[in-house]
Amino acid sequence: MEFAKTVEAARRQAGAWKTEGCTIGLVPTMGYLHDGHASLIRRAAADNDKVVVSVFVNPMQFGVSEDLAEYPRDIERDGDVCRQNGVHLLFSPDAGELYPDGFCSFVDMSGLTDALCGRSRPALFRGVCTVVAKLFHIIQPHTAYFGQKDAQQLAIIRRMTADLNLPVNIVGCPVVREPDGLALSSRNKHLNPAERKAALCLSAGLAEGRRLLENGETDVRRIKAAVRAPMEAEPLARVDYAELVDADGMRPAAAAHRPLLCAAAVFIGATRLIDNFILDAE
Ligand code: AMP
Repeated sequence: MEFAKTVEAARRQAGAWKTEGCTIGLVPTMGYLHDGHASLIRRAAADNDKVVVSVFVNPMQFGVSEDLAEYPRDIERDGDVCRQNGVHLLFSPDAGELYPDGFCSFVDMSGLTDALCGRSRPALFRGVCTVVAKLFHIIQPHTAYFGQKDAQQLAIIRRMTADLNLPVNIVGCPVVREPDGLALSSRNKHLNPAERKAALCLSAGLAEGRRLLENGETDVRRIKAAVRAPMEAEPLARVDYAELVDADGMRPAAAAHRPLLCAAAVFIGATRLIDNFILDAE
């Protein structure tokens, strides 16, 4: 496996592979890799000749009061996970490499970014779109892989790629969970044992919402209340949002809409967790 810390080195390696006629799959991450990331990497390895993983804790997508400084990091371990899962290039630039002095160009989006996580975290998607656009230009992958765990992010990346005519296929991959239902997340590391137990209120709420929808419930308020109920009953939890939206446009949607995204975010102590499910047309 190759390592690159600079844009120039990453571009040179990816460019050489493309000249040889190899297909390249890119998996953008913020590191502290877990089995959710590994599932994206394995999919990229199955689909492509070469797999590039980026590890970059993107300061642009964190608000001033958010957890940039506390975000978990372990680049040695990330290297092991990459090696074990068939990665060919690990690109881990410093912030100054991607945002040198004088940097002042951004990718902004309206509409899709106003709901859900974008409403709670106004800096988030400008940072995500800007860094992903940069990574696409640096690596020039044929295909890039994103998790359904961040369903709004996936919809936004699809939209940006189409709107800006970026020549990259976008593939969404299913949510990977712990056996008890908690979605894997780098931030789970921050949960103490009591919080880890409490965090199950998120997947429990979504499971209840899914049950109501699958049993034909059409009252959106009742469904949202059912999703919130286990979180509101949990003393260590504070609900950020629980919403039903159309999965492409992120606008409030009727229960019968397909594809329907049911998404929720909750603070467990100081740790913010998100999860969701999508109901597709039968
Ligand atoms: P992150 O490092 O959290 O920014 O995530 C990098 C990529 O991995 C994103 O496309 C995420 O959606 C994806 N991802 C994170 N957690 C999971 C999970 N539990 N299952 C599937 N994909 C995930």
